[in-house]
Amino acid sequence: MSNAQWLARSRHAVWHPCTQMKVHETLPLIPIARGEGPWLYDFDGRRYLDAISSWWVNLFGHANPRINAAITDQLARLEHVILAGFSHRPVVELSERLARLAPGRLGHAFYGSDGASAVEIALKMSFHYWANRGRPEKTGFVSLENGYHGETLGALSVTDVPLFKTTYAPLLRPTHQVPTPDFRRAAPGISARDHAITAAQALEAWLAAHHATTAALILEPLVQCAGGMGMYDAEYLRRARALCDRYQVHLIADEIAVGFGRTGTLFACEQAGIAPDFLCLSKGLTGGYLPLSVVLTTDEVYAAFYDDLTARGFLHSHSYTGNPLACRAALAVLEIFEEGRVIEANQKLGERLTGAAEPIIRHPRVRDFRRLGMIWAFEVDDAGPDFSRRFFERALAQELLLRPLGTTVYFMPPYVIGEGEIAHLVKGTVAVLDQL
Ligand SMILES: *Cc1c(COP(=O)(O)O)cnc(C)c1O
Repeated sequence: MSNAQWLARSRHAVWHPCTQMKVHETLPLIPIARGEGPWLYDFDGRRYLDAISSWWVNLFGHANPRINAAITDQLARLEHVILAGFSHRPVVELSERLARLAPGRLGHAFYGSDGASAVEIALKMSFHYWANRGRPEKTGFVSLENGYHGETLGALSVTDVPLFKTTYAPLLRPTHQVPTPDFRRAAPGISARDHAITAAQALEAWLAAHHATTAALILEPLVQCAGGMGMYDAEYLRRARALCDRYQVHLIADEIAVGFGRTGTLFACEQAGIAPDFLCLSKGLTGGYLPLSVVLTTDEVYAAFYDDLTARGFLHSHSYTGNPLACRAALAVLEIFEEGRVIEANQKLGERLTGAAEPIIRHPRVRDFRRLGMIWAFEVDDAGPDFSRRFFERALAQELLLRPLGTTVYFMPPYVIGEGEIAHLVKGTVAVLDQL
């Protein structure tokens, strides 16, 4: 079957995410037949460079032989088993490995399926911790302006992206947002670090007044991804950690997008030398293969639930919690990181891409070009209406999968992008900038 046939059937039967379906009257859907490395291929034989890692999940390319083999091996042994009252090798091994790799002492792993479910778990666990510790009035959550933590009701309550939030506002819990350290919002002449310090002072003022009723601060360490790849100085995280300690408020690090090497270190928190009380991971966890998320937490939190009373336990579950196939994929991902010395290799790869991006940096319409680790972003001047959609369409014609966030264009490629593909990405992006 051709693209056109799949497209018509998909429009008829599939309600696509984050989409006003009517746009597909004019904007074509792209039915993908197969993937290989950083490339996706449609049913008409056209190819697209997956420069956004299929919504930030893919790390080592599509149809990665190593991950394929791990999943296939697991498939023949055990595809799934209930995790309440049962355990299995992949979930034990993955939990142990994550505990060794994560910053600080996060030795207890609680699994969910998607990123948003990890956020729900962290929020509920934090609240319940305080209740179990005799502080039931600590029910509030504080997050950063322009932050994103997912779209289920709890996660959306701490998200601050009006496009996703406004419609559902009556369903959400009231939460508070403090100023973002996003460097794009710094006043002229103010350094990223000073801007971060000012934002931390606002957090301090808020916590001083409200800590008694606040359970946790949740934030995306170093890069607010959905909020337009807003990057900020690590000093904010150091200060946020110190303030959370001082005011007895949990720190939830949502590394769902930035974890697994995106910011140049395995976890973004490492760059501030801090450890959160809860670390939420998903997206890259399985290399972009299967839905799996996890919340890692401390002995201190775990101990607050450990009791003779059932109701003091964390009575939360998802059917596919700790799915063995997904855990095996995650173990294969961690092996690739270790054996390929990927974090080190990415330093060179990142520099190569930045060097090659010179024509984009020099382009007259490009502003605020920025990079952290394996994330690149820039703003486009004179973008005009419907910029994101028009850019996406033009990029497809250049064999590129790019989906700007508003007028922010970003690259978040799989770590297997090669020399020729980098050149393809830069050349195609410049061509789109010239046309639009
Ligand atoms: C994507 C994302 C989520 C939500 O993950 P889903 O798997 O889409 O539910 C939460 N937090 C951050 C920072 C994300 O980027």
